Amino acid sequence: MRVVVAGGAGFLGSHLSDAFAARGDEVIILDNLSSGSLENVQHLIDAGHAFVQCDVSQDVPVDGKVDVVCNLASPASPPYYLEYPLETLAVGSEGTRRLLELADASKARFLQASTSEVYGDPAVHPQPESYWGNVNPVGPRSVYDEAKRFGEALVTAYRSARGTNTTIVRIFNTYGPRLDPGDGRVVSNFMFQAMTGRDLTIYGDGSQTRSLIYVADEVRGLLALLDSGHSGPMNIGGQREQTILEIAQSILEVTGSSSKLVFEPLPTDDPTRRRPDITLAREVLGWEPTTSLTEGLTALRDDYVARRVTERA
Ligand code: UDP
Repeated sequence: MRVVVAGGAGFLGSHLSDAFAARGDEVIILDNLSSGSLENVQHLIDAGHAFVQCDVSQDVPVDGKVDVVCNLASPASPPYYLEYPLETLAVGSEGTRRLLELADASKARFLQASTSEVYGDPAVHPQPESYWGNVNPVGPRSVYDEAKRFGEALVTAYRSARGTNTTIVRIFNTYGPRLDPGDGRVVSNFMFQAMTGRDLTIYGDGSQTRSLIYVADEVRGLLALLDSGHSGPMNIGGQREQTILEIAQSILEVTGSSSKLVFEPLPTDDPTRRRPDITLAREVLGWEPTTSLTEGLTALRDDYVARRVTERA
């Protein structure tokens, strides 16, 4: 198959591209390299897969017929999308529309990477796909949350108005090798801080929760959803809900670090809790995550060691 991965040089996009390449597909990676990096995909380029540097909210320069289009093009880290609010809205709306046009013209299957952020600060816990969410439309995070919500609406409209073969996955906090140590997310921040003897920065009192998922489990879920023909939306996320303080403790243990904890202000509209209901993925795909937190964090630690991430700081 010819597969387009928009955002393919990013953390998750590059792992998804690897999975396509491993099963013999031809991958066309589109990325503007704003938060992704060539380092993530150089091995794929060397193996003959295509890389096109472009901003999909401006142009989708792909020739010929394609079989699959995956839209992972967006900043995903809160500090990053807060720094690029207009670009985040543009890629989530116009970028998604352009990629849907490509899929529609090619009669390709289209995967929309949506997010747990569509649930906002959830009033229902855990979150099933049927929950509509609790998002502040004018809060700072709205540039990401509402772009992703609009993306879901657009994908749904292409499916009903044009018959485009679409699916929507709602991705929860994913971590693993290649997570950019400077992107500001909780696992990369804590890992980097622990490995360099810096204080771990807990925002708020650290009682807010997230349910982490290891990247290989996430990618396995995305492929299963693509292959299933299901239209989504479908949650693909971790089942072990932890407070931020517990995540900090796990990272201190895996790194053997004696870093201290410091408490900093909680960002505006930071969701207080998050855990996916994955009943649908279990029933339709037979999917569930299998990697333990210790295994996953160890793999991330080893990746930072191998890439000498701490020495580059
Ligand atoms: N967080 C933290 N310290 C950090 C980075 C993040 O306490 O150095 C908290 C953040 O406030 C949030 C959670 O960790 O409650 C997850 O943040 P992240 O940016 O990874 O993703 P989010 O789930 O908020 O999109």
